[in-house]
Amino acid sequence: MYDVIIVGAGPAGTTAALYAHRLGLKCILLDKTEFPRDKICGDALSGKTVRILRELNLLDEIGNLDGSEINRITFGSPKNKQFDVYLNGEKNNKNITKGFVIPRKIFDNFLFEKADKVTDTRQGFSVTDVMMENEQVVGIIGKTKDGAEEKFRAPIVLGCDGANSIVARKLGLYEMDMENTSVAIRCYYEGVKGLTDQIELHFVDEVIPGYFWLFPAGNGKANIGIGLSKSYMKKEKRTLREIMNEVTQSEYFKERFSEAKQLEKPVGWNLPLGSIHRENYGNGFMLLGDAAGLVDPFTGEGIGNAMVSGKYAIDVALKCKKSGDYSNTAIAEYDELLWAEIGKELRTSTKLQSLARSRFLLNFVINRASRNEEVQNIISGMLSHEIPKDELYGPLFYIKILFS
Ligand SMILES: Cc1cc2nc3c(=O)[nH]c(=O)nc-3n(C[C@H](O)[C@H](O)[C@H](O)COP(=O)(O)OP(=O)(O)OC[C@H]3O[C@@H](n4cnc5c(N)ncnc54)[C@H](O)[C@@H]3O)c2cc1C
Repeated sequence: MYDVIIVGAGPAGTTAALYAHRLGLKCILLDKTEFPRDKICGDALSGKTVRILRELNLLDEIGNLDGSEINRITFGSPKNKQFDVYLNGEKNNKNITKGFVIPRKIFDNFLFEKADKVTDTRQGFSVTDVMMENEQVVGIIGKTKDGAEEKFRAPIVLGCDGANSIVARKLGLYEMDMENTSVAIRCYYEGVKGLTDQIELHFVDEVIPGYFWLFPAGNGKANIGIGLSKSYMKKEKRTLREIMNEVTQSEYFKERFSEAKQLEKPVGWNLPLGSIHRENYGNGFMLLGDAAGLVDPFTGEGIGNAMVSGKYAIDVALKCKKSGDYSNTAIAEYDELLWAEIGKELRTSTKLQSLARSRFLLNFVINRASRNEEVQNIISGMLSHEIPKDELYGPLFYIKILFS
């Protein structure tokens, strides 16, 4: 009955549903929760997400959702030096882009409603297994809210079901790889001082080798969090909540938090990093977004890559339908297209992640950038994809920093 079954209606799944509609594929989108639902996240939407939203003609509407428009990024060093890079505006008018922070409860619901208008959807439907015939995935089995079992058949199943993907587990592709997974906590606050149109990433002593983020989430709220590698946290005696308290109460931040109030207990979730290239397809299926481990190891962003994977998965699903070939050989093109676009950037971010572990290098680069507009413009260009991000790791970048 369906061309494609999409398991999970986060950004990967809803993007796939919207592209499927464009290309005339009949699909069903399944999610175990009911929308609107929360997703633990920093809620920041940057370059790639904005690009896909524009391609889907949704960007104008995004600007009307509750949240904040972002025009600059503030970086802070262990020695508490700070500098801003401007995504647009006077200081750097060649980079015409902006970002957003929109709580996922609102953003994901917006995308779900768009998908719901053009495709079949089922909420409160928890997928429990995949159906196989002759080593080929041919559908899924799941449970409704009332506990009734139901099956859906399609020649392609897309696993868009996040970091704990049931589709990946059932197909033997799930692995909790401590070295290539981060863990992060988020807490919504109100009353944090000094947040306007900037997102802030602070590589402060309390958190290194991770970072502390402060994002304006709209309506006077802030999205605060810290992220660290799972392997580091295994050795660390402090909990993530204790580390977060240390930062917010530190000499440097305590004034900004003096009238702040937590709106929830900090909540945590895993981030499967794209610092390794995981197996993400096979006979009759593809894994997308967090299920495929596509989170940027340096910035912790995963929404953009999840959406990009949704686009390529549907391109390949259409080709399979036309050729009638749903074998892993035909579906391999998904992996090729996806990694041709995001692979280089993920490799660079993996290197940057190791750079960010060095207190000395962080102090050096951020100190230099805080005093030099040209260095700020180079970093701004890289963040807005005007200058290839690889240069950030190449010797040219350091030569420019030293001599500009
Ligand atoms: C603390 C934290 C902060 C982050 N900050 C940012 C940020 O600021 N910017 C950014 O770009 N990225 C950020 N990320 C990463 C980002 O949240 C993910 O990369 C992104 O959500 C991946 O999208 P997805 O669609 O692949 O999966 P998800 O958003 O996880 O969606 C998966 C969906 O599948 C559904 N599902 C799961 N299991 C089943 C099942 N068995 N049956 C049916 N449905 C199922 C879930 O209910 C969910 O709706 C952050 C992550 C964390 C943990």
